[in-house]
Amino acid sequence: MKIKSVEPFILHVPVTGSQIADSTHTITHWGVVGARIDTEDGLSGFGFTGTHAHLPGDQLITRCIATCHAPLLQGEDANDVQRLWLKLARNPALQWIGRAGITTLAQAAIDVALWDLKAKAAKVPLWKLLGGQVREKVRAYNTDIGWLSIADDKLVEGARRAVQEGFTGIKIKVGSTVERDLRRLEAVRKAIGPDVTLALDGNGKWDLATCLRFCRGAEPFDVYWFEEPLWYDDVRSHAQLARATRIPVALGEQLYTQDAFGEFFHQGAIHWVQPDVTRMGGLTEVLRVCETAHSHRLPVAPHAGDMSQVHVHLSYAHPAVGVLEYIPWIKDCFSDPAEVADGFFRLPQEPGAGTTPTGEALQRFSKPIA
Ligand SMILES: [Mg+2]
Repeated sequence: MKIKSVEPFILHVPVTGSQIADSTHTITHWGVVGARIDTEDGLSGFGFTGTHAHLPGDQLITRCIATCHAPLLQGEDANDVQRLWLKLARNPALQWIGRAGITTLAQAAIDVALWDLKAKAAKVPLWKLLGGQVREKVRAYNTDIGWLSIADDKLVEGARRAVQEGFTGIKIKVGSTVERDLRRLEAVRKAIGPDVTLALDGNGKWDLATCLRFCRGAEPFDVYWFEEPLWYDDVRSHAQLARATRIPVALGEQLYTQDAFGEFFHQGAIHWVQPDVTRMGGLTEVLRVCETAHSHRLPVAPHAGDMSQVHVHLSYAHPAVGVLEYIPWIKDCFSDPAEVADGFFRLPQEPGAGTTPTGEALQRFSKPIA
């Protein structure tokens, strides 16, 4: 399966409503910044990273794909996913300037495209290639009802609606003021009853003192996890928080390497492990993190920078995964959308990684790559 060409692409897809916000970001579109890899035997593989649709930033990623990574892939065997991952990640020319960041996001798109090709060549959905189905169903939790920009009454209404639709888990954003967020948490817990899992996400906004104060107030409401309570790389404060509260700590969406996760494992600073194939240089590195999490007996809840198009395959195939995030923004851009019915993800059926965009999506949402 010789690689013939690597072509980057950018899609900007609108979010639900016209705009959403968490404690640190306000966005109108989700960026699907990807690579199409064609082989000499006529197969096309697709992979992408997820961004906040900032075009100049997205164009840095596509430029990195086209000018830094693509030349190393020309003529290579697309089957050799592990070897090619190392070839890109340990490329001496890039290692000096980019062991994390744009180079890694660009590599994520390529690595996923290679897995997509591998599964297409084997004529199976990716979960089969990853070892086969280990669970009957993957439970979904809904994040799209819980943005910080949603007014209190609409938040409660959305949470109720999600439960009526069959979701057994939701997540709401925090990180405004402790008082406002506790009020919203209490109202949502009251509305959904005791049987629905309710996770919180601070997006790295607060310091330790604020988190401690918030957690004291939040503990009575049976919080499933508190995600990114603190600055993303601050292992010590997460460890202190994890020791001080009964609420489980979750994180990982902003970590680039297995070594970054390693520190959180070693210090007992993490209860829910949230790697993302769109950030960590692809599925290859995420699989390593899943194995480590499993060896620590810690559950994985992948962060959905891919809006779960790829993670749904991982979640059906890896024993460490406990639950998977659902945000519906981009699913209809793909020929095999990550869909939820009665609170569970549908088992993907098409050969590949779920990353093949439809012709219509390419036409409608494409942006210039430079
Ligand atoms: Mg998050």
